[in-house]
Amino acid sequence: MPTAILAERQSQICRTESGNQFSIACDKESLAGAISQRACVFCGSRVVLYPIADALHLVHGPIGCAVYTWDIRGALSSGPELHRLSFSTDLQEIDVIFGGEKKLYAALIELIDRHQPKAAFVYSTCIVGIIGDDLNAVCKRVALEKGIPVLPVQSEGFKGNKRDGYRAACKAMFELVGTGDISGIPPKSINILGDFNLAGEIWMIRELYNKIGINVVANITGDGRVDDIRRAHGAALNVVQCSGATMHLAKMMESEFAIPNLRVSYFGVDDMAESLYSVAAFFQDDEIMARAKQVVKEELAKIYPRLMAYKKALSGKRAAIYVGGAFKAFSLVKAFRLLDMDVVMVGSQTGTADEYKELQEITAPGTIIVDDANPLELSAFLQEKAVDIFVGGVKERPIAYKLGVGFCDHNHERKEALAGFTGMLNFAKEVYSSVMSPIWKFMPRREEIK
Ligand code: SF4
Repeated sequence: MPTAILAERQSQICRTESGNQFSIACDKESLAGAISQRACVFCGSRVVLYPIADALHLVHGPIGCAVYTWDIRGALSSGPELHRLSFSTDLQEIDVIFGGEKKLYAALIELIDRHQPKAAFVYSTCIVGIIGDDLNAVCKRVALEKGIPVLPVQSEGFKGNKRDGYRAACKAMFELVGTGDISGIPPKSINILGDFNLAGEIWMIRELYNKIGINVVANITGDGRVDDIRRAHGAALNVVQCSGATMHLAKMMESEFAIPNLRVSYFGVDDMAESLYSVAAFFQDDEIMARAKQVVKEELAKIYPRLMAYKKALSGKRAAIYVGGAFKAFSLVKAFRLLDMDVVMVGSQTGTADEYKELQEITAPGTIIVDDANPLELSAFLQEKAVDIFVGGVKERPIAYKLGVGFCDHNHERKEALAGFTGMLNFAKEVYSSVMSPIWKFMPRREEIK
C-alpha cells in the first residue's frame, strides 16, 4: 500500500485479484483525523429533502449549517422554488444556554405566514442535539396552529454518517405518505424514488415512462410536491434509484402499504433500458413491453453514431470513480465499458458489503475498490493508476485538477443532465472534452509530480 494509506484504513481498501477471496470493511463511522469525503447526518437529510419545491426547509441551528447546504443541489422545479431559499434559526450563545425552542417557534410562524408552504421540514443540527430542544413538541404545536404538516427531521450532525441522514429524511417524508386522496390514480402507476431532477433529469425519465404507458404519481424527491408525496401510497410500485438515499422510504411503504419496490438506475444505456423493461415486466403487460422496446430502439438510434465516435477517441483511457452511493458506481462502470475505457479505481462514501462485492465482480482484476476514502488516498490512487479522468463531486474536483487529471462532475451540484439516453451522450461528450482538453499540455503532468 502507498504511504498515504493509514494503517487503520487498510481494511476499507481492496485490490481485486482474480481467484482471491474478496473482503472489504464498510458501513462504519469515518476514522477520526482521516478527513473523510463524507458529509454529516444533517447534510444527508438536506440533500434528500431539498428538491421538494413547495415545502419550507428550516435549519434549526447555527447559521453555518444552513449556509453549508444552501441551494445544495442543481435540482430544478417546474413550479415553486421555495426549496432554493435556506432558512435558519441562527442559534447564538444565549440560545445554547437558555434553549432555542422559542426562537424556533417564532421562526416557523413567521416563515409559514410569509411563504404559505404546503409543509415544513425542520432540521435538527449538532447543537440542537446537545442542548436538547424538543423539536417534536414545537413542530406539533405549529402544525396544529397553522394546519399544515410540520415535520421534524432528526438529523443531528454527529449522530452517525450521511446514510443516517438519508434515513432521517425518509422517516420525515413517511409522515406525509398516506395522508392524501388517491382516487383517480390509474392502476399502472409508479413513484420515482431517488432521482433529484438535476439539470431536469426527472422530466426526461417521466417522459420515457409516460411514453410506454406508465403513470407517475410522485417524484421523490426531484421536482417534488408535498401533495404528490401525500398520495404516493396510491401507486402500484416504487421504482428506486440511488438505493441508499430513498430505499428506507420504499421499505417503510412496503411494510405499511404493501407497495413493492424495484431497484433501477437511469445512468448508461444498459441500465436506462433495463429500468423501462423491468417496470414493463412488473405490470406483465405485453403492450407496455412492446412500447418499451420501441422507445429504447428509437432513443438508441438517436445517440448511437455520436456515441461510437466518442468511443473511438476514448478507447483504452483510464477512469477512476468516487461517488456517494455504490449503486451509481455500477452504472458508471458499465458506461465506461461502453466507451471502451478501463475503470481502474472505484469507491463510494456509503456503499454496503454486497454492493462492493458486486463492484468487484464487474471490474477487471487489479481495480482498487475503496470505501469512505480521503483526499490523500484518492490522490495516491489517481497517480498510481495514471488515470485520465476522475468522476466524482465537488470535493473531488480539486484533487483531479491539482494532479493534471480530467474530471467529470457526477454529483448533486452538476448542471448537466447525465441520466437517460440523452444523458449518456452528454456523459460521453463531457468525458471526451475533459480527457482531450488541450489544457493538460500546460499543466504539470501527474507523472512529473509523483
Ligand atoms: S449539523 Fe453539525 S456537522 Fe453538520 S454542518 Fe451543522 S455543525 Fe457541522
